[in-house]
Amino acid sequence: MAAPTFEIPKLKDVSVVPAVQPDAMAHIKSFQASAPIQEAVGFPGQLVDNWEQKAIEKMGDLLGKYRSFKVYLDACVHCGACTDKCHYFLGTGDPKNMPVARQELIRSVYRRHFTFAGKYFPKLVGAKDLTKDVLDQWYNYYYQCSECRRCSVFCPYGIDTAEITMAGREILDSIGVGQKYTNEILGKVQRIGNNLGLPGPALTDTLEGLEEDIEADTGVAVRLPLDQKGAEVLLITPSADFFSEPHVESLIGYAKVFHQAGISWTLSSHAAEAGNFGLFIGNYETMRNIALRIRDAALELGVKRIIVGECGHAWRVAYSFWNTLVGIGAGANDPFAIQLQQQLDPRYPAPQHICEFTYDLLQRGVLTIDKSANDHRIVTFHDSCNVSRGSRMGDMPGGQFVIPREIIKMVANNFHDMAAETINESTFCCGGGGGILTDDLIEVRVKGALPRMEALNHVVKDHKVNFMAMICAICKAQFNKVMPFYGFDMSMVGGVHQLVSTAIQLSPKE
Ligand code: SF4
Ligand code: SF4
Repeated sequence: MAAPTFEIPKLKDVSVVPAVQPDAMAHIKSFQASAPIQEAVGFPGQLVDNWEQKAIEKMGDLLGKYRSFKVYLDACVHCGACTDKCHYFLGTGDPKNMPVARQELIRSVYRRHFTFAGKYFPKLVGAKDLTKDVLDQWYNYYYQCSECRRCSVFCPYGIDTAEITMAGREILDSIGVGQKYTNEILGKVQRIGNNLGLPGPALTDTLEGLEEDIEADTGVAVRLPLDQKGAEVLLITPSADFFSEPHVESLIGYAKVFHQAGISWTLSSHAAEAGNFGLFIGNYETMRNIALRIRDAALELGVKRIIVGECGHAWRVAYSFWNTLVGIGAGANDPFAIQLQQQLDPRYPAPQHICEFTYDLLQRGVLTIDKSANDHRIVTFHDSCNVSRGSRMGDMPGGQFVIPREIIKMVANNFHDMAAETINESTFCCGGGGGILTDDLIEVRVKGALPRMEALNHVVKDHKVNFMAMICAICKAQFNKVMPFYGFDMSMVGGVHQLVSTAIQLSPKE
């Protein structure tokens, strides 16, 4: 690990709200997308000539389209309840990383152009013109928000800063100011089918290699099928599962579960990506284009069920948007959506999370488990933001909190939760979600991870926890990178299905 060029926050026994340090993170600016990257996803290649007018027009467009956006801009009473709830403020002390201040960057311009008082008495109501300086601050601070929604849990009006951030990014993209990391990935997934730009033959090689590894390890021929027409299940999983560590361990876990349950399944080379970064830039059309690849694959392969692997924002998009976006679940009613709804088996949720699938099999005793195989691990669970605050699982309230923990307890003997105020709907973001998982934002990522690292440190000290399980590809990649900055070993990071993989007992006869 190269020496950091910034100060790493110290882990404290009792978490404290930091002293305010104005502009502490004003120097942070994520790399901007080049013209080819922008144009590949349909945005102007550079800042358009009449950008101020265009940005205000776009804001008006979004205010008309998304009622929530207007309500959030109007409803804030500046009560301050959200100020100390953002991990980026807690890790940096920069007051512009307080959720209310992040909102205010857009709200002040909204007031100037869309309210009577702001038009005629701007100074009285804190209304501002959209200057280049304000625009630059939008870029800096809307790419220091992971759209985690934690602040909204504590706001008495439920104001969701994540939606304001998405609107800010959408306006920026529309006038030619995009982020390199997110928009480059969006281009790759639209062109090739996954975030990594991994072509079909490379995927085939990777899966064959994994099959050999599993057989060498267990003596059992477990398959990872690709593009298998007529399979019952299409598994849509983040492309990081195909080759990143520790992600691949969970992919092996899914394969073992399908194998032992005797349920035919397939991956798709056309839709080899669960991630949908269209959510991060608040762009519905981009999100739909990416989701359409999954519908195409499901129709082409003739599957009966669609199951989603361990990926936080992907599950949010799948659970909350796929129905109206593309008809996976009731919602969209174009001919292909209707065809797919008729094709999918109505006895199962569409879509279904891999944890729901595995939990059901465990409850019914379909899987042979030896919990002691995980006895070298003392496990805690990190709730991922988009699963916790943007979706559900199962048919019970809070199922997204219960089901992953129940799986862990069914496959491992040692489990300890982190402090109550840092889990479930109050979970702290890993610090790398929502388009922040890029090395040019490493300072934001490391500092934003502080609250989670402090909560982890407590269970490490009190219970000797040595494994933090999670169900998100971004969380895994983020923690792998930032935990060494806090003195933790990256081998502590892993998936829930990595634990399942360790505990499941396969027999050569299966
Ligand atoms: S959504 Fe999350 S990252 Fe964004 S301001 Fe709120 S708490 Fe901070
Ligand atoms: S908690 Fe809600 S109402 Fe209070 S300052 Fe924050 S956003 Fe505004």
